[in-house]
Amino acid sequence: MADIPEVEDSDPALFTQSPVVTIAIIDRHGQVKRYNIYHALLARHSRFFAAELNRKDLDALKGHPALSLYAHHADFQNFIRWLYGSTVGEEMTPTDINGLWNLAGSFSAKGLQNELVDFCRDKRRRPKDLLVLLRELACNPSWPHQPTAAKPDEKLPDYLLEKVAFEISSRGWIKFIEAAAGQWERFVTMQEPSSNTKGQYHSRLMSKVKAAEELREKGELTDPATSACRWHDHLENAEEKKACAWCNPSA
Ligand SMILES: [Zn+2]
Repeated sequence: MADIPEVEDSDPALFTQSPVVTIAIIDRHGQVKRYNIYHALLARHSRFFAAELNRKDLDALKGHPALSLYAHHADFQNFIRWLYGSTVGEEMTPTDINGLWNLAGSFSAKGLQNELVDFCRDKRRRPKDLLVLLRELACNPSWPHQPTAAKPDEKLPDYLLEKVAFEISSRGWIKFIEAAAGQWERFVTMQEPSSNTKGQYHSRLMSKVKAAEELREKGELTDPATSACRWHDHLENAEEKKACAWCNPSA
């Protein structure tokens, strides 16, 4: 059984009152691991867990899992790391980002979705990194869907497509394709699964390039990585929106 990590950034009063719940995670190979997590943390950061745990008589569980869910262990461990530390690790690979993005969608964890968008908005991400990540999001849709869970939303793919369109428009095609170091060819030849509900990325990219070209001609093209926050969702948390430096530059 995994140890309960320390909570790094939180309201201590909330946790002294909070029970710990056991969540069983079953991976693709049927391997089961149990994770002990503060109920208050799960409920605060995930609408899915808030609703599911609310239905349970936690006192009656006596150490049995409150929920059994399907996920990759690596993704769930990244989710817990975010839950306890409010940030995602610097060393995340495109596979990690995709897995965590899908879990954030399944768990309706809007704060995590916002954090992942910001992680991908980092200025150090080069055209080839953006294309690798888009290919990962397009070709490895979430596995599996929890029966009661939501689908990941479109904010991250939408941001990445718009950023790639910006890079194409501002650099010009030839310089962009050079900078993509072979990833452009892989992006245009990828086979997007027909079951992919996230839509066809090629055609979405082309319409964003067209829009970027029109803005460039008017002198109004801005870098999506630095322009105001359009890829956050603070609907449920007015305090968070006030504190968000992207939404509110004076914060
Ligand atoms: Zn924001």
